[in-house]
Amino acid sequence: MRAFSYVRARDVDDAVAALRNADARLLAGGTNLLDLMKGDVEHPAVLVDISRLPLAAIREQPDGGVRIGALARNSDMANHPLIRTRYPLLAQALVAGASPQLRNMATAGGNLLQRTRCHYFYDVAFASCNKRSPGSGCAARDGFARQHAIFGTSEQCIATHPSDMAVALAALDAAVHVRGPAGERRMAIVNFHRLPGTTPERDTNLGRDELITGIELPRSPFAAHAHYLKVRDRASYAFALVSVAAALDRAPDGTIREARIALGGVAAKPWRALAAETYLAGRRSDTRAFADAARLCMEGANPVQDNAFKVPLAERAVARALETAAAVPG
Ligand code: SF4
Repeated sequence: MRAFSYVRARDVDDAVAALRNADARLLAGGTNLLDLMKGDVEHPAVLVDISRLPLAAIREQPDGGVRIGALARNSDMANHPLIRTRYPLLAQALVAGASPQLRNMATAGGNLLQRTRCHYFYDVAFASCNKRSPGSGCAARDGFARQHAIFGTSEQCIATHPSDMAVALAALDAAVHVRGPAGERRMAIVNFHRLPGTTPERDTNLGRDELITGIELPRSPFAAHAHYLKVRDRASYAFALVSVAAALDRAPDGTIREARIALGGVAAKPWRALAAETYLAGRRSDTRAFADAARLCMEGANPVQDNAFKVPLAERAVARALETAAAVPG
């Protein structure tokens, strides 16, 4: 690890001001950043500690939604009564996302900003990684790419985003609040992360001098019938090969009013399956409709040889997640 200096931000504006230094990075839970620094992938000159700022509250909003502070710990979110009762999809994703020790440290904002787990990105012995070193190539394209993306890839990068929480947030139509030198702004979660295109080094649309202050969960008609399904190589903590956040708003006669489907482990951002959502609206919630929707989810998939198995795996996972969501009582 290279030498760095450490400062503690007094308030949010102080943290934003510190980001004027292009070599500064924010430190909250540190569960990803410190690993990257130890591996020499990240080497900030200044760490700006924001962990003591008053941004950890989880509060009900006047419109019936919930606001989660950027520094709320993953464990506090997963265990909070408002999240457990109104947004069980999010609680399930958080519990699936990491070990208890990591959940106790990792924050909501940090979860969104964690970087890909592509092994070529993490191992600086591999020179070719456009995300770590723009213009150097992509070792995964001709290398080991079992974990990599099947949607939204580019010639430059085929990495996935590792967050489970973000996948649930995408299905729940969440928004991210950020503060920068120009003040506050709000981004739909589906616009927060970026596909690689020709700039894979940029994971998100957050400005370099902006700070996440919170996450907004709207009041959700999908909350009652929802399920998070994560498929991984081992039962204990591992990143998703494929995950599915499925949520259904159903009429009393069982007809689907609206559906939400987001996939993880398949793209550089949570992947909303809009065509399948449209297909399900107005249909009976039955096995056939779910199987058809699952097939629609896979349209446009573009795997490489190593991860072609993800296409049928994801299709089956979507169908199962929808079946399970429909069976949730309430
Ligand atoms: Fe780097 Fe992306 Fe290629 Fe992985 S997939 S080696 S992160 S450019």
